[in-house]
Amino acid sequence: MEKLTFDVIVVGMGVSALATAYFLLKNDCSLRICLVGLPDSQSKKAQGGIVVPEDQEWVSDTLKASFFTADIDLLKEVIGFTPVLKETFEEIGFTATEKRREGGHRRRRIWAYKDYTGLKITSLLFNYVRRFENVRFFVSRVEGVDLENRAVLTPSFVLVADKLVLAFGGYASSFASTTNDFYPALLHTALKGVVFSNLDWIQFHPTALSVGVTPLPLLTEALRGEGARLVDDDGVEFVDPLDNRFNVSRAILEIEISGKKAYLDLSRVDLDNFPQVLSFLEKFSIPKEKVPITPVAHYTMGGVKVDSDFRVVSVGGILADVYAAGELVYSGFHGKNRLASNSLLECFYSAWVVANSLVNGGSAKMGVEVGVGDVVVANKSRVDVEVEDYKFTAPIKSLLYDFYDLKMMQMLLLEMHTEKVLRWARDFLEKRADFWQNLIVASHLKRIGCA
Ligand SMILES: Cc1cc2nc3c(=O)[nH]c(=O)nc-3n(C[C@H](O)[C@H](O)[C@H](O)COP(=O)(O)OP(=O)(O)OC[C@H]3O[C@@H](n4cnc5c(N)ncnc54)[C@H](O)[C@@H]3O)c2cc1C
Repeated sequence: MEKLTFDVIVVGMGVSALATAYFLLKNDCSLRICLVGLPDSQSKKAQGGIVVPEDQEWVSDTLKASFFTADIDLLKEVIGFTPVLKETFEEIGFTATEKRREGGHRRRRIWAYKDYTGLKITSLLFNYVRRFENVRFFVSRVEGVDLENRAVLTPSFVLVADKLVLAFGGYASSFASTTNDFYPALLHTALKGVVFSNLDWIQFHPTALSVGVTPLPLLTEALRGEGARLVDDDGVEFVDPLDNRFNVSRAILEIEISGKKAYLDLSRVDLDNFPQVLSFLEKFSIPKEKVPITPVAHYTMGGVKVDSDFRVVSVGGILADVYAAGELVYSGFHGKNRLASNSLLECFYSAWVVANSLVNGGSAKMGVEVGVGDVVVANKSRVDVEVEDYKFTAPIKSLLYDFYDLKMMQMLLLEMHTEKVLRWARDFLEKRADFWQNLIVASHLKRIGCA
């Protein structure tokens, strides 16, 4: 198989990968950079917008949404990044059509391009980066990553580099009921010795359009910032529409387990600024006054553990020259519940830190504390078997097709710890139906002392 060498390989083609390439070029425009992956990404689907944190209140809003589990020192650093983010927008040509407010935000600080901000930013970044002759794009499925040798395996090439940046996204698509597009879950193949943090911190988006397709269309939270209400079958409003996702999802689950249904009432919202939402309503012939919704897996706060330079942490310590960015990482940015529209911001911020430390040397102190939510998958042979099972079947086969299992899983991870839910979780582990889902349930039971 042909072997190609580069200075840096970035795995992924979403915002975090493209932004890493952008910031690397800002630091050293002579680097030979390769981006490898598939062009589809969750980044392209981002509707609501991107937070531009200009006020200190953003720190406290983020902390509050995270139930005070986010890393306050990191968030303060992010405020210092705001001028860089604005310069970047200027340079790539991103201008917001409006500034929005979403659940958990006290201010209108979300910069949006109608309801397709992610697509806009992804294509602007791509257009910027592709102009450099020393940047190569390899559009290909990635089948494995050898962290030790910084090699990336594709069906036709082996790509090798001095430095490796992992930016291949989160694992919400491992749930059958999700807003995420499916792509081969690379996380399983890059497991060897890597420390994962807080895998059970999954964000359920409260307002996916409940129309029984996979993935479910998302009704952006920005709708609630513009006057949408959450009502039950009788039209009774049951939760503050501007509460955070964790709380709103729990309130909807309460409605669902009582045998009722939850709806978004969009009658007060001007849908001209939400063309995607309008098209969903038209496609499924749904009236704007009574839009059926349900919580679904949307974003994964947990992921690969990194130090403050976003270098990957393994059982043996920090891996030399291996970095990670974007949704893939657990950095402490979101804690256990992400504040709306903070993830595109984390993509840019992590990409900036990665590029700076990769080119200029890191500033992080050695040694990373072991957290209560940390796990290492040491039994490589079992993982290999599971990887075979997972390989490129879309979506991943999962027990969670079953409505009962799905709701029990959501209740467990949203900390609705009734006896029935805990019994279900223990039975679920007994069945050993799905490696990744089992790891999530086991991590959660360990966290709450029920292992
Ligand atoms: C419907 C929806 C709406 C959202 N709205 C917002 C929003 O308004 N604001 C916000 O801040 N966040 C939003 N998010 C979350 C946000 O979009 C993501 O967290 C963020 O884009 C992640 O970026 P990333 O670059 O880390 O990963 P991704 O964008 O997921 O990119 C991962 C890349 O890796 C590639 N890849 C992965 N595995 C393989 C493989 N095996 N082989 C080849 N390639 C591979 C993928 O093809 C892709 O190119 C939304 C998410 C969804 C699903």
